[in-house]
Amino acid sequence: MNPAVWLIGAGPGDPELLTLKAVKALGRADVVLVDDLVDPRILQYCPRARIVRVGKRGGCRSTPQAFIQRLMLRYARQGLRVARLKGGDPCIFGRGGEEARWLDERGVSCEVINGITAGLAAATAVGIPLTHRGLATGVTLVTAHTQDGGMPDWSALARGGTTLVVYMGVARLQDMRAELLAAGMDAGTPVAMIENASLPGQRDCASTVAAMARDADAFRLRSPAVLVIGQVAACRMFAAPEVPAFPEHDLRRSA
Ligand code: SAH
Repeated sequence: MNPAVWLIGAGPGDPELLTLKAVKALGRADVVLVDDLVDPRILQYCPRARIVRVGKRGGCRSTPQAFIQRLMLRYARQGLRVARLKGGDPCIFGRGGEEARWLDERGVSCEVINGITAGLAAATAVGIPLTHRGLATGVTLVTAHTQDGGMPDWSALARGGTTLVVYMGVARLQDMRAELLAAGMDAGTPVAMIENASLPGQRDCASTVAAMARDADAFRLRSPAVLVIGQVAACRMFAAPEVPAFPEHDLRRSA
């Protein structure tokens, strides 16, 4: 039995990073609700569906989340096969959990189809292994932007010994830097900032915790971008001719 709603991860942008499951579901959907960060090329996989853009930039500014949920419910109750397409993975800073739960409580069946989250794709796209024996005991995906406007516990994260992958951090670099340094993180800890990962406009910049705000400014780092903070950020798997395998952490452009 098909679910009434598929919550589908569109991945970071490159359509080739979609799962087969996602492509199949998109091909069967009658209506597709599309978020802002979904690359338009992905819509080629739902030629027969009605496309509804529901991202904040697409209209519904006042209560987008409630509006989107009601829209999904309405379509599902009309007997349409609904696909909700979100950037990256639906359940990584994508409200997938909230939406699935809300639908479930209303008796609407829902299936989550994973997407490759931006942090994983971004690291791989620039040759960074997020875990590496001897360099990182794990990886933590964290948002710099919490619901109540506060910040994550940077000091706990600084001491955790895992690679930090920071989402939604572009506007918070000064605060992040201050908190990480105050928590005792080494000022020279490598940082990689990756913008538009997997997309034609992908750019990245190597820096350090001490220099990241200044370097991001000089580089004109823009959202969407993720930061990889930790020793692995200086450990590139492939040494491209213009990129040293172990960079000196000076400002650099590779695109
Ligand atoms: N569910 C998404 C994340 C949504 S939050 C996922 O799993 O990837 C939005 C944040 O994701 C952006 O602010 C940025 O930090 C990150 N992001 C999304 N797409 C990106 C991309 N192509 N390159 C770099 N960062 C990206």
